[in-house]
Amino acid sequence: MSGENKTGEDKTHTDPAGKEKASSNFIKHIIEDDLKTDKYDGRVVTRFPPEPNGYLHIGHAKSICLNFGIANQYQGTCHLRFDDTNPLKESVEYVDAIKEDVRWLGFDWTKHLYYTSDYFDRLYECAIALIEKGKAYVDSLTAEEIRDFRGTLNEPGKESPYRNRTVTENLALFEKMAKGELEDGSCVLRAKIDMASSNIIMRDPTLYRIRRKDHHRTGNKWCIYPMYDYAHCLSDSFEKITHSICTLEFVNNRELYDWILDALEVYHPQQIEFARLNLSYTILSKRRLIQLVEEKHVSGWDDPRMPTLSGLRRRGYTAAAIRKFCDMIGVARRDSMVDISLLEHCLREELNVSAPRVMGVLHPLKIVIENYPEDQSEMVEAINNPEDESMGTRKIPFSRVIYIERDDFMENPPKKFYRLGPGREVRLRYAYFITCHDVIKDESGEIIELRCTYDPETRGGNTPPDGRKVKATLHWVSEKHSINAEVRLYDHLFSVENPMQSDDFTEHLNPDSLVALGNCKLEPGLKNAMPGVHYQFERLGYFFSDPLDSTPGNPVFNRVSTLRDTWAKIKKKM
Ligand code: ATP
Ligand code: MG
Repeated sequence: MSGENKTGEDKTHTDPAGKEKASSNFIKHIIEDDLKTDKYDGRVVTRFPPEPNGYLHIGHAKSICLNFGIANQYQGTCHLRFDDTNPLKESVEYVDAIKEDVRWLGFDWTKHLYYTSDYFDRLYECAIALIEKGKAYVDSLTAEEIRDFRGTLNEPGKESPYRNRTVTENLALFEKMAKGELEDGSCVLRAKIDMASSNIIMRDPTLYRIRRKDHHRTGNKWCIYPMYDYAHCLSDSFEKITHSICTLEFVNNRELYDWILDALEVYHPQQIEFARLNLSYTILSKRRLIQLVEEKHVSGWDDPRMPTLSGLRRRGYTAAAIRKFCDMIGVARRDSMVDISLLEHCLREELNVSAPRVMGVLHPLKIVIENYPEDQSEMVEAINNPEDESMGTRKIPFSRVIYIERDDFMENPPKKFYRLGPGREVRLRYAYFITCHDVIKDESGEIIELRCTYDPETRGGNTPPDGRKVKATLHWVSEKHSINAEVRLYDHLFSVENPMQSDDFTEHLNPDSLVALGNCKLEPGLKNAMPGVHYQFERLGYFFSDPLDSTPGNPVFNRVSTLRDTWAKIKKKM
């Protein structure tokens, strides 16, 4: 622990960014303009379209809050659509987890739950329509040849020798593809656009490929699967989405999105791009998060260090704190990196007022109070949350032998260390002033016990009649009343701000991201803490009884965050 004379008060519950009101953004301006001109008959329909190939992370939360938030604000609807076009990587496990996470975040898709796989028939018919219009062809080049023919940013691509197959030939071949009469990889369906386009995406993009793999919803009905760009814009169109909001990396795909919808002359939503969330010390990419899980760098998708919604939830983040964070970061058109301390700040703001305060000692150092009778104990009154009187008080036991935090004592304290040392007096919160007289060590020289006296005139931790002041207030627990518990301290999963700075991001994993302390001493009332409850451990941070490993009688606590609010400090300096 660092910092001096900490009293446990968390004075950071201000609004340092000054933007806690519902923020407006450029997308809302577009929607308001469209509502004014009646572009979509006054409708607002958005969608959140995850691919069920992993668990949702906090980046997805930004998109969920944006899409569902807009629908709520403009009395519209937001669809949850599983973009399940790649059976190699998708599964029902992911579908279920995504639904649970969206609900947990506080959003409701009502009856608007869709799957791109439900559109496979319609997508197939659209492909036939494109072929009939002469706007798509079956190409028999190999994948490698297609890549070679594509050209580069500086050079135009080359047309495939199969590009001018007749409509009849293309229809027949496409049907064979769908019927499973052709080998995987032997051919693809491509849009016939422009191999010389300055936008490489427009150089005859692939629309369908053969992939003999059972799908988690359509089984073995299909052996051809549509590509993302093709399926996505059409799914939006089928669902009569008005504003198709996506992240900036799709800005070049918009031309293709528009081309497909125009070529088929179907309903045309508007694609709008915004900057994805990047968070310091964090990786937000399902592909890389899968790697962390598969290589066992973490215990699973819900490891409390993971930036997944299930990890954050298990760590003790609340849905409200995450929504607040998404609101504060706003929505912009340019990529940037958000400081992870802002996320922590949002959580502290909430827990500062809602979490009851308790005392727990993580690294116990025993103190014997020599002038306190051996067989005596008493109850002292503690305030549950000074931010909210209605949370009341509780009684905690005090006795002759107590524990304090090991680093609240120094045998040779340096100048600015105001806590306990030989001959020094400090306050035990809610109890008494104590003065240290003796330091007891084991053979190796390690301090194993302190001998102190207390001043009975300071009961409740109050200033004695002679007006004596102390410079530090410590938390403590009574030895014979305390319970043992495991407490897990978490730090950033990565030790550098941008783990993607090198090829192998796993090089930057923080070896100290989890420290499990097996012998913590907590006040007795925590014995029966239910799983999934928040507390502030005075002076130490916010803690959450682990929803999986904690049981009443045997609590295990995760530290959600420390008390120090670096974000509040950053904002003060600005
Ligand atoms: P990842 O890169 O993590 O695999 P993805 O974009 O492939 O993410 P999808 O399942 O396709 O994952 O994402 C669903 C939606 O969430 C998309 O609309 C996508 O734009 C949005 N999204 C994904 N990551 C972020 C992020 N970091 N910030 C904001 N929105 C995001
Ligand atoms: Mg994606």
